[in-house]
Amino acid sequence: MTFDSEELSVKLYNTEKQEARIVDLKEYVIGAVASSMPPEFPKEALKAQAICCRTLVVKRMGIFGGSGCKRQPGFDVCTDSIHCQGFMDIDERQKIWANRYEEFAQKIQAAEEETSETIMVYNSNPIEAVYHEACGGCTEDSENVWGNKVSYLRRVECIYCKDSPYWNNIKSFSIRELKRRLAINFDDNLTDKKEIPGLLSGVESTTSGRIKKIRIGDMVFDGEDVRSLLGFSSTRFTWKVSGVSFQVMGLGNGLGLCQYGARGMALLGFPVDEILKFYFTGVELKQMDKPTHSKPLIGKTIVLDPGHGGDSGSSGPMGLSEGYVNLEIARAVAEGIIQCGGKVILTRDKNEFVSLAERVRISNENRPDITISIQQNIFADEQMGGTESFYYPGDIEGKKISEHIHRELLAVLMLKDLGVKQADLFVLRETNNPSVMINVAFLSNPEEERFLSEPEFRQKAAKAIINGIEAYYHD
Ligand SMILES: [Zn+2]
Ligand SMILES: [Zn+2]
Repeated sequence: MTFDSEELSVKLYNTEKQEARIVDLKEYVIGAVASSMPPEFPKEALKAQAICCRTLVVKRMGIFGGSGCKRQPGFDVCTDSIHCQGFMDIDERQKIWANRYEEFAQKIQAAEEETSETIMVYNSNPIEAVYHEACGGCTEDSENVWGNKVSYLRRVECIYCKDSPYWNNIKSFSIRELKRRLAINFDDNLTDKKEIPGLLSGVESTTSGRIKKIRIGDMVFDGEDVRSLLGFSSTRFTWKVSGVSFQVMGLGNGLGLCQYGARGMALLGFPVDEILKFYFTGVELKQMDKPTHSKPLIGKTIVLDPGHGGDSGSSGPMGLSEGYVNLEIARAVAEGIIQCGGKVILTRDKNEFVSLAERVRISNENRPDITISIQQNIFADEQMGGTESFYYPGDIEGKKISEHIHRELLAVLMLKDLGVKQADLFVLRETNNPSVMINVAFLSNPEEERFLSEPEFRQKAAKAIINGIEAYYHD
C-alpha cells in the first residue's frame, strides 16, 4: 500500500519564531534530521536518524490518528527539541553549513529518499522513536527516565559510541564550589584530606549505571538534579574524592537511539535496519499506512458562497474582477472537499450576479453543516492589506471554523493578520447554519491583486481553507 508521501503535510509550530507553518512530510524529515544529527555522520546513521524523525512525527500527526503537539493545540509538532522534535529550516541550513551546504543537503536528502515512507512500529503502531547524542556505554530503560515501562525502550550495552567526545569526561570541583552549586552543608576543614568521608553516599543507580539518587553532604539528590546543577552531560557518572572529580559518561538521557553509537555501527558496516533494531527492542520497519483520515469530510455538506458575482463585484486597480477570483477559489475548495469525501453546494458556478437573499436561501434550503462565504476586501486606501475572517456574534461553531481557516490561511499566504472578528453581516446573520466569511486578501492593494491573479496563489488559499475545515472536524 503505497501513496505519495509528498501529499502529506505537517502542521508545524515554530516555537522560537512563534510562527505556524505547513511543511510537506519529506521536507519536514530533512529539516528534522538536519537539526538533530551532525551531517558529517555516515550515511547509514543519517538513514537511521531519518527513520526516527519520520516515525516520531507520524506518531503525532492528526491525519494518522495522532493527537498532535500537546502544548500547541491544532498542530502536529512543535520545533522545541525537548517537547517534540527540533527542525532546521532551509535558511538556517544554508547559513550554518555555509560552503558545505550542497554536500550536506545532498547527503540528508539521500538519507530521506532511501528510507522514504519507512517507519518503526511495535505491534503495528508507530513507536516513540527517541534518540540522544551518546549513551556512554549503556542505553537506559524507559521507566528510569519517564517512570513508565515501554517495551521497545530497553537497556542495551553499547560500545559503539566510545569514539564520541562524550564517552568519558572528567569534571572537577573544589569542595567550596560543590557546596555553592548544590547548596549543601559540609565541613570545609576536611578539604585537604585525600579521603573525604561522608561527602558522597547513599548511591542508588539504575542497571545501566546511571545515578538515580545520591546523598551529597547533608542533602539527597535525584541524579537528574545533580546533572543539571553541576552541568553534567548525563547521569551516568562516577567520582573520585580528592578534590572532587566526577567522571561523566555519555550525553543525553540514554533513551532509544544512541546517535554516536549509530555512527560507530555505520562505520563498522552495519545497515540501517540492524542499527535501529539494536537500539529499539523488538521493533519492525515497515511502510507507513495510508492516513486513517484520508476521507475526513465523509457525510459533511458544505455550502460555498463566492460573493459578488458578475457586475455586482468591483475590480482591482489592474482590473482583476472580484467575482472571478472568488469563484476560482471556491471551485478549488469544492474540488478539495469532494476529494475528502464531502458534498458541496455552490451558490453560483458562473461569474454572474446572484442576489444576497438568493444565496442565503440556497444555503438554508440545503441544510449544510457549514456555509463558507469567500470574498476579497476592497478599500479606498491601496496600502491596506491582509487576511480577515468573520463570524456572526454568538455563532460558536462559526467562530471555531473561522479560527481554523484563518490560521491555515495565515500560515501559507503569509499576509498581514487582520484577525478573526464578529460581524453582523446579512449573509452570516440570515443563514441558519454555522457560517463564516473569509476575506482572503485585498483586491484594492496592487501587490495582493497580483497574488490573487496567480492560479498558484488561489490554489494555496483553497488548500488552506480545506485544511481549516478538516482541522475543525478533527478538533
Ligand atoms: Zn510540542
Ligand atoms: Zn552508545
